[in-house]
Parts: sequence; C-alpha cells; structure tokens
Amino acid sequence: MRHLILRLAAVLWLIAGPAAAADKPLVILVSMDGFRADYLDRGITPNLSRLAAAGARGAVRPSFPSKTYPNHYTLVTGLRPDRHGLVDNVMIDPLIPGVTFGLGDRSTVKDPRWWDDATPLWVTAERQGVRSASVFWPGSETAIQGAQPTYWLTFDQTMSAEARVDQVLAWLDLPADRRPGFISLYFDETDTAGHHDGPDSAALNAAVAHTDAALGRLVAGLKARGLAADLVITADHGMAAVSPRRAIYVEDLLPAEAGRRLAMGAFMTVVPAPGRAAEVEQALLGPHEHMTCWRKGEIPARFHFGTHRRIPPIFCLAQTGWEITTRAAVAKTPIEGGAHGYDPQEPEMAAVFVAQGPHIRRGVRLPTVDNVDVYPFVARLLGVRPEASDGRLSGLRRALDR
Ligand SMILES: [Zn+2]
Repeated sequence: MRHLILRLAAVLWLIAGPAAAADKPLVILVSMDGFRADYLDRGITPNLSRLAAAGARGAVRPSFPSKTYPNHYTLVTGLRPDRHGLVDNVMIDPLIPGVTFGLGDRSTVKDPRWWDDATPLWVTAERQGVRSASVFWPGSETAIQGAQPTYWLTFDQTMSAEARVDQVLAWLDLPADRRPGFISLYFDETDTAGHHDGPDSAALNAAVAHTDAALGRLVAGLKARGLAADLVITADHGMAAVSPRRAIYVEDLLPAEAGRRLAMGAFMTVVPAPGRAAEVEQALLGPHEHMTCWRKGEIPARFHFGTHRRIPPIFCLAQTGWEITTRAAVAKTPIEGGAHGYDPQEPEMAAVFVAQGPHIRRGVRLPTVDNVDVYPFVARLLGVRPEASDGRLSGLRRALDR
C-alpha cells in the first residue's frame, strides 16, 4: 500500500510539474520572548489554544543560562550556549579585547565575530536553496559566516506586533520565486511585561492576550492567501516572580574592587581583578543560603556550561526567585516583577511550545524537551539538512507527519 501511494505521488509530481513549486516548504518559527509554558492554560489565548488543539503542544526547557540571546541562538542552531558562544546577554571575549557585547549595543550585536562560532538555520537554509526572512530574531542583523537572511530588519522595539505580522505577510505576497520559505518572527511584549509587573500580573496577561491576537492575525493572513504554513511557536525562557524580600547583596560578601561583576540578577558572573582571584574564590565559593557559586570549569554537568572562553571565571546562580544585586542598584531600580536566568529545570523557566501545520500531527501532547531539540525539528519541516548539533530529532518527532 505504502509503495503504491509513493508511486502515485511520484506520478502526480511528474504530471503536476510547476505545481510542485506550490509545495515548497513554508515554515514560520515564532518566539514570544519570556512566554512561560503555563501561560497557555490561562484561558486568554484563543488563537494559540486553537493551534495547540489542531496540532502539537508541549514545553521546552531553556538551555543554561535561561537568558534571551543564548536561547534564541540555541533555538536556531541546536547548540548549547557553551558551544555556540552566545553565553550571556553581556559578554567579554579574550579574542575581542576591549569590547563588551551588550544586547542594547547595536555595534556589538552587528559584529559577526560574536556569532560566527555557529551556523544559524537561516544560513543553512539559504545555502541549500531555501530563501529566508527574519523579523528581529537575534543574530539576523548581521552576516554570520558571510550569510544573512534574504530579508531582515534592524531591531525596533516600537514596531507593533501587528506590524511585524504584516511584514511577514508582505514577504509572503512576493512572487513565488522571491518568497521566503523559512521565516523567523520575534515578539517581545510578554518578556517586557513579565519583567516589569511579574508573571502573575494583569499587565502580563494583557501582553499575552495581545501577542495571541497577533498570532490570530498571522493565521488569518495565511488563510486569506491560501498558504499552508507549518507554524512552530515557542519562547526563549519563562519568568519567575521576584521580591524585594529576596535579595542577595553582593557587597556583604565581596568588595566591588575585588572583581568585575559582568552580570547580576538571577545569576552573577565575576572576573577577579588582577591578583585577587583567591580572595574572590574565598568569598564566593563556600555555601550560601540562596546562592551557589562555582569556578567556571566546575559547574555541574547538567547545565552543559563552563568551557567557552567567554564565560567569566566565577559563576554564581541564585535560588529561583532570588536576585543577586547591590544596595546601590536596588536604590536605583527596586526589585519587583519577574526575572529569568535561573536553573532551566525549574518549572517557571519552561517555555511554551506549539506546532501546527500541514506536516504536524493533530492532537499530539509532547513531553517537555530541551530546547536544543527544536532545531532538528524545524530543519526537518524545512527539508533542510541540519548541521551537527546538541539536539535530537527524537525529542519532538512524534509531532511530525512528514
Ligand atoms: Zn528573553
């Protein structure tokens, strides 16, 4: 029977000829920044809930650290941050002396040296003849290994979710030979509201509902054009509530001049000042009530983190919901709302995962998987040969109908 169907398909393909072009892959990978897995159960996402019912639903564990740039790059490379090199939103690199990478600093974000350790899926797709487009996916603003999506935009947070969707639809209105087959689309409102007001706030729920409405606009736009797209909708991390009662003041442990604190919050990284490494280790490596510190090479194996040259020598992780900070920082910006960057195993860090489309099985409930598994899944939907990665297709294969 299977043979007969394959033969029939081959014959139809021969007869159909140019119609085969209509069967080119169309995959839209959507990230809703900070969209925690359980937001889908709040009864405020009619569009996403409909897609989940008509397709597959699960959740993904972020890679460590559960921050925005590391995880967006993991989603499109299948590599752990320790391997792809986007080890934090703020970074230094001995090979790029005197420069601090920051996600708000366009000159560093557009410098390919920070990205070139890995090959994002849009580069692989372009090399294999699948045109790609991106609305604001981290990394899309620069030519990585010499290649960039055919269509891309410079990040502009004021561009509304609706306008981002309309940009995607405009690309899909291009003539077939110029139309992208792989589109990555980024929304940020859920993260902003989650940080500012917390994961259990009315403001967060409003951001979730608004992002869901944008998804509805996308689905309606595809339908109006008669386009059947495989949609893969996920996020980079979840969000945990924080409180002024859960502060770890680093000045109580270590004088500021003993080392450079590159990151603070859910975790802290420290580059000891010259000659003060022993003092920093003495102060931080012992037991603390709500924080654990390691030398970079001694971070537990399950975090898959600690070998990349960009990781600072000392890494301290706060207990979920606690913040590592200073009194001066709190005086300027009080602790409130939410944070992420915590242990990826914590349920608050899990991100939503929904897939729906012509090549996705209907009504599939998936287990929670590591987000490295998203990459081989999307590559398969695209019909693109993936690069070697840390992800396995077996993680999400049950959702595939292809
Ligand atoms: Zn994020």
